[in-house]
Amino acid sequence: SKASAHNGYLVYQESMSEGFSAYLTLGGGLRKAIEEGQFELYYQPKVRSMDEATVGAEALIRWHHPEKGMIPPDQFIPIAEESGLILPLGEWVIRRACEQLKLWQDQGLPPINLSVNLSGRQFLQPNLVEVVKQILADTGIDPQYLELELTESMLMSDAHGTIQKLHDFREMGVTLSIDDFGTGYSSLAYLKKFPIQALKIDRSFIKDLGIDGDDDAIVKATIAMAQSLNLKVIAEGVESRNQMNLLTDYECQEVQGYLFAKPMCSDDFERYLGAFGKA
Ligand code: C2E
Ligand code: CA
Ligand code: CA
Ligand code: CA
Repeated sequence: SKASAHNGYLVYQESMSEGFSAYLTLGGGLRKAIEEGQFELYYQPKVRSMDEATVGAEALIRWHHPEKGMIPPDQFIPIAEESGLILPLGEWVIRRACEQLKLWQDQGLPPINLSVNLSGRQFLQPNLVEVVKQILADTGIDPQYLELELTESMLMSDAHGTIQKLHDFREMGVTLSIDDFGTGYSSLAYLKKFPIQALKIDRSFIKDLGIDGDDDAIVKATIAMAQSLNLKVIAEGVESRNQMNLLTDYECQEVQGYLFAKPMCSDDFERYLGAFGKA
């Protein structure tokens, strides 16, 4: 075996893959990182295609590791999921996002909605609806300004409890969207069943827009379907003016991507919003 237990401790051997030992090291650091406040939220603008006004933002977590520097979420969210630390961390994200939004609202910045990513385990948390409700009450945020981004796989598991949870959020007035749309297994029939308001077309379909005709066909069909189901469509990962022009042609309502802005710290986003937010 690559690791053996001695007195309850794992002993690392040279043969252990670097990836796995990095995994264990990060996992150990996560708990401390939560206690010591090493996390920060970045914000990426959501832009309305029609007039290119910023109408929203997505909160994206960053970990400032004391030795390793900035660690991207793809590297630690899965570890937080597995260890269960995603529950306190995910709750921190929602609270921090709402507190920040409240500050911007109080400063009189143009109104935006703020979306937060939920992870699978967080979504299965039985009291998630109450947790969110409490955070909204504590921070004084009107639920209509909060959007929760879910993935297709979350909707597929435990169908009954899932639908109830979605309805509870809807009743509260929170907006629900499906992230990375097109990459999972959800059937189109499911979309009708779930009280969802928006689809985010995954970046993988946007990347070769105008180059790979299949992608154009998929994106057009997704937008047409969404329109007929009364869902808003957001395209992710828009990097070029050409992609933007095509998406506008296809009547995609909102876009997100480096063409407009990368995710920014709160101070930078605040300046950006002052300049590019809707009036
Ligand atoms: P996601 O939710 O699909 O977020 C979009 C990712 O694409 C972000 O990466 C963003 O920085 C990046 N992106 C945005 N525009 C462009 C573009 O034009 N080109 C390219 N190449 N990339 C672009 P990031 O911030 O590294 O986040 C990665 C993933 O980590 C997210 O994917 C999400 O699944 C997860 N994540 C981030 N923050 C949180 C969080 O607070 N909670 C949970 N559960 N997951 C999070
Ligand atoms: Ca997302
Ligand atoms: Ca996404
Ligand atoms: Ca993604």
